Amino acid sequence: MSSIVKKYLDDVKKRNPGEVEFHQAVEEVLESIAPVLEKNPQYVEAGIVERLLEPERQIMFRVPWVDDKGVVQVNRGFRVQFNSAIGPYKGGLRFHPSVYLGIIKFLGFEQIFKNSLTTLPIGGGKGGSDFDPKGKSDAEVMRFCQSFMTELCKYIGADTDVPAGDIGVGGREIGFMYGQYRKIRNEFVGVLTGKGIGWGGSLARTEATGYGLIYFTREMLKANGKSFDGQRVVISGSGNVAIYACQKAQSYGAKVVVVSDSNGYVIDEDGIDVATVKEIKEVQRARISEYVKARPNATYVAGGSVWDVKCDIALPCSTQNDINEESAKKLVANGCYAVGEGANMPCTNEAVKYFLSKGILVGPAKAANAGGVATSALEMSQNSQRLEWTFEEVDAKLDSIMTSIFKACDESSKEFGMTGNYVAGANIAGFQKVAKAMLAQGI
Ligand code: GLU
Repeated sequence: MSSIVKKYLDDVKKRNPGEVEFHQAVEEVLESIAPVLEKNPQYVEAGIVERLLEPERQIMFRVPWVDDKGVVQVNRGFRVQFNSAIGPYKGGLRFHPSVYLGIIKFLGFEQIFKNSLTTLPIGGGKGGSDFDPKGKSDAEVMRFCQSFMTELCKYIGADTDVPAGDIGVGGREIGFMYGQYRKIRNEFVGVLTGKGIGWGGSLARTEATGYGLIYFTREMLKANGKSFDGQRVVISGSGNVAIYACQKAQSYGAKVVVVSDSNGYVIDEDGIDVATVKEIKEVQRARISEYVKARPNATYVAGGSVWDVKCDIALPCSTQNDINEESAKKLVANGCYAVGEGANMPCTNEAVKYFLSKGILVGPAKAANAGGVATSALEMSQNSQRLEWTFEEVDAKLDSIMTSIFKACDESSKEFGMTGNYVAGANIAGFQKVAKAMLAQGI
């Protein structure tokens, strides 16, 4: 580790004690951009890194709500407005019991570079709550979302900060929050993305993260003389990203054999049936173990790791730190040669280093899962124009954005003598656009 990287990292750890996911995300970016800082002393002189590491604003608030038994519950809400050098803060809201400031900050920090890579004018932010939507009634989720927005609405706006979904926040939650925003503010604007079709939502936004992951991975494979056709794919997760990644990979001739949830995974050697997964996760809101009832040839494995299953291409689409070094070693030993990160930071830094040392292709999350937020930015454009584009129009734009993102990662990796290291390429390309904007705009 270079001395400048160590200095920044030590400082981050001291200023943000206990925020281990944030430290991890920072370390990964700093290691990649060290050569850029060496070549561009003006960034160091202008304190670009110190300024990037400190969010512009962090908001924490109380979210009181009443459950179905009439008991008052209190959760904690967050919105971290990390960096607005290239556009309004943009990033999702995560509702999950594991949420605390360190998770939101790692996500917000990643979002700065991801959003920069999309080619669109959006800054980085993230928010959420330790509220757990699992097992709650629709009415409870509605009361929580209304209370959350009653406070959040003071800090966001269509040209200021535009939240969207993430883990635990889908169409239902966005609907409840948008309804509350409209009631309080008396305005119909694009202040949230991921809205429903017919009330400001964009066609293809639901599919965008999963499709985008496959478009990016397709380009990565193509540049290395490979393709999805006939390849065996393992996906972790069974949410929105996993479902549409599975569907698009299959359309390119891949055989997806695994999807999972936090309790276990299913193996279907006939190929995962997307309609069944959608029915279980989106309609029944049930566990993936239900899959074997509809598809008796499939097997459910309680617990265990999906990364024990042999595959050519691994697509981690569940949550952070899903693939550690041990899983990475298992994957490589079983013949996996490419990884596309659908979730945010799904591989530990050690796992990524191991993959790269073995020549495995790694499509890093900031690039590979940027299709969701890119399409959110397209939703913002449509809202501003008061127009609605067709599915084909949005999907074509998404495809060309993901192709451009791959090109940017590839070119940056080459420029800094790390050909094929798309992890470094993504960090460098994402960083440079933001650094240039910060430099131009002064301190
Ligand atoms: N939560 C998604 C992400 O991690 C989407 C954010 C958005 O659409 O604003 O990028």
